[in-house]
Amino acid sequence: MSTAAVTPTAAAPAAGPAPVAVGMPHIPRARRSRDEVEAAAVVTGDKKVMLAAPRGYCAGVDRAVVAVEKALEHHGAPVYVRKEIVHNRHVVDTLESQGVVFVNELDEVPQGALTVFSAHGVSPAVVSQAAERSLKTIDATCPLVTKVHREAVRFAKQDRSILLIGHEGHEEVEGTYGEAPEHTTIINNPDEARTVQVADPDNLIWLSQTTLSVDETLEIVAILRERFPNLQDPPSDDICYATSNRQAAIKKISPACDLVIIVGSANSSNSVRLKEVALEYGAQRAERVDFAHQVDESWFEGVATVGLSSGASVPEVLVQDVLTLLSEYGYGSVEEVVTAEEDIIFSLPKELRAEMKKVGDNDRSLGGHGRNATS
Ligand code: SF4
Repeated sequence: MSTAAVTPTAAAPAAGPAPVAVGMPHIPRARRSRDEVEAAAVVTGDKKVMLAAPRGYCAGVDRAVVAVEKALEHHGAPVYVRKEIVHNRHVVDTLESQGVVFVNELDEVPQGALTVFSAHGVSPAVVSQAAERSLKTIDATCPLVTKVHREAVRFAKQDRSILLIGHEGHEEVEGTYGEAPEHTTIINNPDEARTVQVADPDNLIWLSQTTLSVDETLEIVAILRERFPNLQDPPSDDICYATSNRQAAIKKISPACDLVIIVGSANSSNSVRLKEVALEYGAQRAERVDFAHQVDESWFEGVATVGLSSGASVPEVLVQDVLTLLSEYGYGSVEEVVTAEEDIIFSLPKELRAEMKKVGDNDRSLGGHGRNATS
C-alpha cells in the first residue's frame, strides 16, 4: 500500500473530448452553503478525502466501450448493442447520444444489422439467435467472463455438477448459466448454500460471477464445503482482478472514514458491492451516486474524512466531479491511497481488429482508464 497526496484536478481528465451533456435532465437545486452545513454539526478534526486506488474503469470495460466507439467510427450510426454495454448511466447515455441503440433482446434489431454483445457476455442461445437473424456481431464480452464460460463448458463436458455463485437475473450469470443449464445451479446467497441439493456431491465444482463480494463468496464456499467436502475449486479465481482490487482499496480506507461515497450505477454489481464493503469495514456511512449532483450536502454534517471510490464501469471524470464538489465544502485535501497497481489491457474484439487492419486503423485507444472514452 502506498499513499500519495494529490490535488483534485477539478474535472480535468488527462485527455480526450469534452464531456457530453446527456441523460436525465439535471434540475439544479439550491444547496446549503459550506458555512450552513458546518453550523449544523461540528466537525472534529481536519477535513480531508481519502481517494481509493485502484478505482474506476477496468480493462474489460475500457475494451467494451472502445469497441462500441470504434464500431460507430467504422460503420456509422446506428450501432445496436444488446443490453447496456457496461452498467453505467453516463456511459450508456453518452453512447446513445452518439447513435448507439441499446436493445434488450435481439428481436428488436433489424435483420442483418451490426450488433455488439455487452461486456457481461451472452449465452450460446443468443449467439444462435444472432446467426438466425443474420446479424453482423462484435463480441465485447470481457475475456475474464469468457474464461468462466469456458470453465462451465469444460466441466459440463466432464459431466460435473456446477454450483454457480452469483445473482440470478444478472446478465453475466444468465450468460454463464446458458453455457450448461442442465449441469448448473445458481447460488444467490449463503441461505441457498445451506439448502441446495445436488445429485452427486462427489462430482461438484463451484464457479462464480466476476463481480461479487470476495468475502461473501468465501463465506458461501465455506458453507458449501462443509456440506460437500469434495467440492472442487475453479482452476483460478473467477472474481476478477478489478473487483478484488477495488474492494481491497475500499477495505483499507473505510475504517478511517466518516462517510464513503461510491460513484457507480445502481445496476453495477461491483459498485453496489463497494458500498456494502465500505460499511462492513467500518465506514460510518456509505452512499452511492451516479453523478456529483446527487451528493446531498447533509451527508457532510459532522464529517471530517470522506472516502471516495468508483466501480469498474465508471469514467474518471465522474469522480473528478465529486472531488470538485467536495472541495467546495472544505474537503480540498486529498490523499490517494494506492493498494495495487493495474496495467492490464485487453486487445479489442477480433472482428473489430480484422476490420481495422483492413483500413489501416492502428488507433486502439485502450488503457485510458476512462479518461478518454466517453469522458
Ligand atoms: S469487472 Fe472484471 S470481469 Fe467485469 S469487465 Fe471489468 S475486468 Fe472484466
